[in-house]
This record gives sequence, structure tokens and C-alpha cells, in this order.
Amino acid sequence: MSKRQLAMVMDLNKCIGCQTCTVACKTQWTNRNGREYMYWNNVETQPGTGYPRNWMEAGGGFDSEGNLKDGIIPDMVLDYGVPWDYNHDELFGNADQTVLSPNTDPVWGPNWDEDVGEGDWPNSYFFYLPRICNHCSNPGCLAACPREAIFKREQDGIVLVDLDRCQGYRYCIAGCPYKKIYFNPKISKSEKCIFCFPRIERGLPPACAHQCVGRIRFVGFLDDQESQVYKLVHKYKVALPLRPDFGTQPNVYYVPPLEGPPKFDDEGKPIEGSGRIPVEFLEKLFGPEVHQALKTLKEEMEKRKRGEESELMDILIAYNHADMFRLDEN
Ligand code: SF4
Ligand code: SF4
Repeated sequence: MSKRQLAMVMDLNKCIGCQTCTVACKTQWTNRNGREYMYWNNVETQPGTGYPRNWMEAGGGFDSEGNLKDGIIPDMVLDYGVPWDYNHDELFGNADQTVLSPNTDPVWGPNWDEDVGEGDWPNSYFFYLPRICNHCSNPGCLAACPREAIFKREQDGIVLVDLDRCQGYRYCIAGCPYKKIYFNPKISKSEKCIFCFPRIERGLPPACAHQCVGRIRFVGFLDDQESQVYKLVHKYKVALPLRPDFGTQPNVYYVPPLEGPPKFDDEGKPIEGSGRIPVEFLEKLFGPEVHQALKTLKEEMEKRKRGEESELMDILIAYNHADMFRLDEN
């Protein structure tokens, strides 16, 4: 257990799936040297299979008695999808060859099922789910490592891999139910999101949060009552962990998406009081607290519509980018 815990909140009502966060992370940390296939930050469509494929069904985490559950190591080709190249060399200077195509037959990759979602037109639906390592309070990766190579920093709860101790056994990958720790085949070590700790130590938020064009990400210490993170998680209780049933106590929290516009009946008329995103699906992702969180969000929205004050809505609108990040108690 760390003395303090940094956390991130992401408001899923504002994510536009632009992948700026993914690119910010990739260019900074994982664009080469065996990390090409890694997405320490990815943004996937839900409902969907995600990245790596079917990660929610890949095991790991803890059962209700606190025992580590078995998990699988996703397959590099079938589940991650090895990054492929295109036939640029063939095309270059060859006027007859006109088709730009991958140089292998890809079967899967990040965002393979982007924007597919579920439901039939005109009642189809989806939303974007950005994911990083949750820097869990009870990390499955850490519990699974026989080398004690994974540790939580005392000062902020960031979960890191000690590469000197790691022997590349990959138990951590099986143990993480979010599949947010990756094997680097070039150095035979496991690597993962480091919550941009070199930036944190300079008082800067992680690059994914800083670059987010939708202003969906808040960063702060969970015990800092002035931080917006504290208010969203503890005061208003509208930010919830993803798959709390996995038992790892994640420290990335999500403001769930509202159910969306009303469904249309067979005659094309909106069905009053209906919503496109089934609340049962949101409950599967965020647990039973999602009902109260959605109720609070709707009540506060109504307050603002009536012209009343709402601290919660002011936070979520994120007028000032700087207010979204509070990395100390100054
Ligand atoms: Fe470990 Fe996975 Fe939790 Fe990250 S999300 S701390 S990799 S168990
Ligand atoms: Fe969503 Fe922000 Fe990432 Fe864009 S940068 S995909 S809005 S989390």
C-alpha cells in the first residue's frame, strides 16, 4: 500500500476518439525498440472486443476471496496484431502497380472494430473507452510476479517494473485482467505505462492527459480534497473504476456515458424516456454504482438548465485546462 495515490478520471461523455492521447503516448514512449505493438494508452470502441482482442475475457485479477485468478497471455498475431507495413517499395517507380496494400494478411489490430458498436440502425450505439494501466492498489501484475520485479511507489502509488529484476516470465501479463502490461521481445522484459512519472516529478500531468483535445482527463491525488479528481470520485461519486469485479482496485476512474439520444420506434418516432446505451452494459463495466452516478449527472444537468449553480457541471465542462491537474496540495 502506498502512502498516497495519484489517480486519473476520464469523462466518457466527452471523448471523441481522436487518438491524440494514443499518439502523445506512442511518440513519447513506445514507437520503437520492441515496443511497436504496445499501446500503453489505447482508445477502443465499446461495446467491442478492444485491444488486445477480448481482453475482458482473458483472465487475471482476483476472485472474491482474494486469490489470483488464472489468465492468458494474448497471442501476438491473433490478439494484438503485429504492426504491418505497406508495399511502398513495390509501388515506388512502378506505374503498373497501383494498389497500396499491407505486406501481410492482417487478422487483428488496434481499433479493428472501431465504431462498430451494437444495435441496428437507427438505434445503434457505441462510445469510446480510453485505457491506460490503472496503477491499481491491489495490482494483479505485481501479485503474479515471482521475481518481485513490480512495485508501487510510496509517494504516489505509480506501479512500475524494475527491469533489472524482470526475467521476462510474463506471469504479470496473465495476472493483469486489463492486459495493460506488455512483453518486449527485443529485451525479454515486461513493460507498461509509467503514468509519465518523469513528468509528474516536474509537476506536469501525463502526456495523454495534457494533450487530450476533449479535455476529458483529470489528474490528482485521491486524498487531496481540493483536487477535481477527489471531487469527482469521492464528493460527487460520479467517477467509477472500470470492471471493479476484477478485484485489483483500479485508480483510473470513468464518468460513465449517459444513455444517449432516445430510441426510435418502427414508425421513426422517438420513444420518450428511452436511451440507446443499455444501462445493464454500463453496469457490467462500472458496477452497480453506475445507477446512482447517472442519476446524479442528470440531476446536476437539470440544475444547470434551470440556471442554478452546479459545481459538478462546472468541473466536467473544464473551463480551465490547468484546473484539471493538481499534482500537489499547493
Ligand atoms: Fe498491473 Fe494491470 Fe493494474 Fe496496471 S492495470 S497496475 S498492469 S494489474
Ligand atoms: Fe478521447 Fe482525449 Fe484521447 Fe481524444 S485525446 S481520444 S478526446 S481521451
